[in-house]
Amino acid sequence: MRKSLERRMSVNLPVCAGWFACVLIALVFALLPAQAQNQPVRVIAFGAHPDDCDLGAGGLAAKYAALGHKVKFVSLTNGDAGHQLQHGVELAKRRRAEALEAARRIGIEYEVLDNHDGKLLPTLEVREQVIREIRQWKADIVIAPRPSDYHPDHRYTGVLVQDASYMVIVPNLVSDTPPLPRNPVFLYYSDRFTRPQAFRADIVVSIDDVLEKKINMLDAHVSQFYEWLPWTEGLLEQVPKDPTERKTWLATRSRAERKLQPEWREALEKRYGAQAAHVQHAEAFEITEYGHQPSEEEIRRLFPFFPESGPRP
Ligand SMILES: [Zn+2]
Repeated sequence: MRKSLERRMSVNLPVCAGWFACVLIALVFALLPAQAQNQPVRVIAFGAHPDDCDLGAGGLAAKYAALGHKVKFVSLTNGDAGHQLQHGVELAKRRRAEALEAARRIGIEYEVLDNHDGKLLPTLEVREQVIREIRQWKADIVIAPRPSDYHPDHRYTGVLVQDASYMVIVPNLVSDTPPLPRNPVFLYYSDRFTRPQAFRADIVVSIDDVLEKKINMLDAHVSQFYEWLPWTEGLLEQVPKDPTERKTWLATRSRAERKLQPEWREALEKRYGAQAAHVQHAEAFEITEYGHQPSEEEIRRLFPFFPESGPRP
């Protein structure tokens, strides 16, 4: 009996040692920030509707995807209220298909959650959906609207993501999904609202090189950019019928082309140096106070788009 136990132990010891080494290596890698291991940067962006992320960070996503980094867009509602003629399940189905096509065009993932459009509230249930999404994506960067946006769904998306930050590392919450080893960097999309405070451009990325890709992505949201939004603005008659002509028209719309704003120039020049003078289109982001606060070195690793020769602080 004892002999057989010893034999079993002598067989199992090397297996145990190997197993222990594996666990140790896995643990070390899990605790290191992804970007420190030359791993792809993992970005997850949240929007209230299935075109919000595209407008705020479509260019940034196209740049990451082109370099082999991983981006996922998540719409917290299914968009089933955003049209003048269609609604409900029919519209939700159409908008999900448009979002998936938009993602396909730039090489990212897109998920549309089945919460109703125009009725989003910062409930515990949706907060847990957000925590799960961030954890499952193993995000290094999380992007969301500011909670001072004009649309209630946008505002509550901002609140929900704020409420998920920090909680993503707490193991006792949403315990069906492993917590992140450390809090990601949380960013806000740019917006034009000034109360209670204006957007602050901390990170500005030129999208001149991917503007065509971004317009092509937006073009997939036919129900929005050629039907619903022009209808809300009284511009429906202006939209060309021909698919090529309407895409050209879309590229002239200010919400699509994202011209560089004067108040973004300082952050742009900080990282692009002399090249900043040539930048015409950009996307800007504010670093929130709720997530990891990245050093300048980390920012340059997480946003691998700035010229090597750019000035450093
Ligand atoms: Zn929206």
